[in-house]
Amino acid sequence: MLNIQRMVLGPVQTNAYLVHDSASQTTVAIDPAWDGEQIVKVARQKGWEISQIWLTHAHFDHLGGVAGILKSVSPSPAVALHAADFPLWRVQGGAQLFGFQLEAMPEPNLPLQHGQVLKIGEYEVEVRHAPGHTPGHVVFYFPQAEVCFCGDVIFEAGIGRTDLPGGDFETLMNSIREQILTLPDQTRLLSGHGNETTVAQERQHNPWLQW
Ligand SMILES: [Zn+2]
Ligand SMILES: [Zn+2]
Repeated sequence: MLNIQRMVLGPVQTNAYLVHDSASQTTVAIDPAWDGEQIVKVARQKGWEISQIWLTHAHFDHLGGVAGILKSVSPSPAVALHAADFPLWRVQGGAQLFGFQLEAMPEPNLPLQHGQVLKIGEYEVEVRHAPGHTPGHVVFYFPQAEVCFCGDVIFEAGIGRTDLPGGDFETLMNSIREQILTLPDQTRLLSGHGNETTVAQERQHNPWLQW
């Protein structure tokens, strides 16, 4: 069974997720936004040990907890990020633009590409490249569990901002049409900020998708 624990962390209220497969006792941290030690603590209270870190994209508010997890967990979890977001990673995800300084971290050692299939126990996870918010943004789609971790591509009644470096509005809208709206209607969308929603709900009510 797949267990999902959401935590809202950091200066811009980012959703960090722990995803745990009980059969294999595998735990992945998706977008450990901030305060990695706290994320590890929450995991351990449940008896979970983080073995991998998956990033939807390299903005600072989604990776601020990576260093803390790497320090607290041994062996160090692999860190997964799309190659097109490595340049953003190297400038700490734009942290300085917002007046923050992050700890130095090694480069991600699990480069992602579109169509790659990751696993959490028996659960397959499809990596879908969905650029526009950042060049290397991906979403993580779990077909069996009918859930998609979509980062800052789409939110309940909103879409990702495209005014930051590397952002592009048309590219983002294409990504939403091709990588999100093609998922089954009942798919749960777990975004980088705000409430959970579904593909059907956004198709019907998201103001950005009504024209
Ligand atoms: Zn972002
Ligand atoms: Zn964000």
